[in-house]
Amino acid sequence: MTSIDISVVVPMLNEEGNVRELVERLAAVLRQHRDESDERFEIIVVDDGSTDDTPNILEELIADNPEVRCLRLATNFGQEAAVQAGMLHSSGRWVLQTDGDLQHPPEEIPKLLAKRDEGYEIVYGRRAERNDPWHRVVASKLMVQFMRKVLGIRLPEDVTTFRVIDGEVARLLAGLPEKKKFFSALAGWSGAKSTSVPVAHSARHAGHTKYNLGKLINHTFDLMAGFSVRPLRLIGTSGAAIAVVGICYALFKVGQKLYGVDIDDGYTSIFAAIVILGGAQLIALSVIGEYVGRIFIQTQDRPLYRVGQRLGFDEELPATAKSELFWSSRRDEADPVDDVPVDRASGDA
Ligand code: UDP
Ligand code: MG
Repeated sequence: MTSIDISVVVPMLNEEGNVRELVERLAAVLRQHRDESDERFEIIVVDDGSTDDTPNILEELIADNPEVRCLRLATNFGQEAAVQAGMLHSSGRWVLQTDGDLQHPPEEIPKLLAKRDEGYEIVYGRRAERNDPWHRVVASKLMVQFMRKVLGIRLPEDVTTFRVIDGEVARLLAGLPEKKKFFSALAGWSGAKSTSVPVAHSARHAGHTKYNLGKLINHTFDLMAGFSVRPLRLIGTSGAAIAVVGICYALFKVGQKLYGVDIDDGYTSIFAAIVILGGAQLIALSVIGEYVGRIFIQTQDRPLYRVGQRLGFDEELPATAKSELFWSSRRDEADPVDDVPVDRASGDA
């Protein structure tokens, strides 16, 4: 296998309007960098189940550019799974992650690499000026502050998925057995020496965002339930606080009665209390449910993705690439495909 210094990993879902320009601009920047620094590169585009013309354009790009490879997932597994697939198929000493919609201009890559040369394991691109709709910006700032201050999750502020990561660290994190990963929080957990540099941030070049409100909420719960048990404790704390208020109120009413004050036995207050407490209990149950659901997904132990096709890769794949076709908890075994454990492989029998 030719030794690679920088593996670029790009997840793409229906990016037909961006893929050609992105790959060509990435290749131009990295060829120039190779000429200056002798660092060799590969560009791994992970096609996350595109149904538009992205796969055909990719095939043309692979034919014209020896550095480009495509990992085609069997269907849409989501951005995080696609990135992990790409990382596990990478062999570079460094992994450079970027989005596939040109929001991260490839011409900014030298800034990340220059900072890396100062001795960091992870360098994040920080948006000098963010080009996203305002409600996304406000929601994401509130989310990060809540996660940091209330839940105590170690999360870098205002960083993007435009980042250069030590290859060992990237593949270690991508290969962790947990199913719901949140990369920047995991990076904080790993203790990797990280920093960020300001980079330009453009509006999406073509097409639409692949995220709707539901997906963003899901992502937020992945972070919350994946990195903190404080919400569970907060349920107990708020329950105790509500109980104390209830007890004080009851004692106050008994006192009033004893002193002969004419108390009002209205139903409105009882109704309000039932509705408020009923709502609070359902919220508490759903928070617990988020954890239970994730335990359920984890115990199913399904692989995160299935690769449909590999284009442009060397015959000899990196060792980390083979495992994710199989079960993540059996990552170490030599030839997993021939070695499917009978009890798990024949679930229908
Ligand atoms: N993406 C993907 N699979 C998905 C959703 C998104 O591979 O299920 C890719 C998408 O093509 C893009 C990157 O992930 O390259 C970021 O997605 P997007 O630009 O839609 O997110 P936003 O910038 O709006 O947060
Ligand atoms: Mg985008």
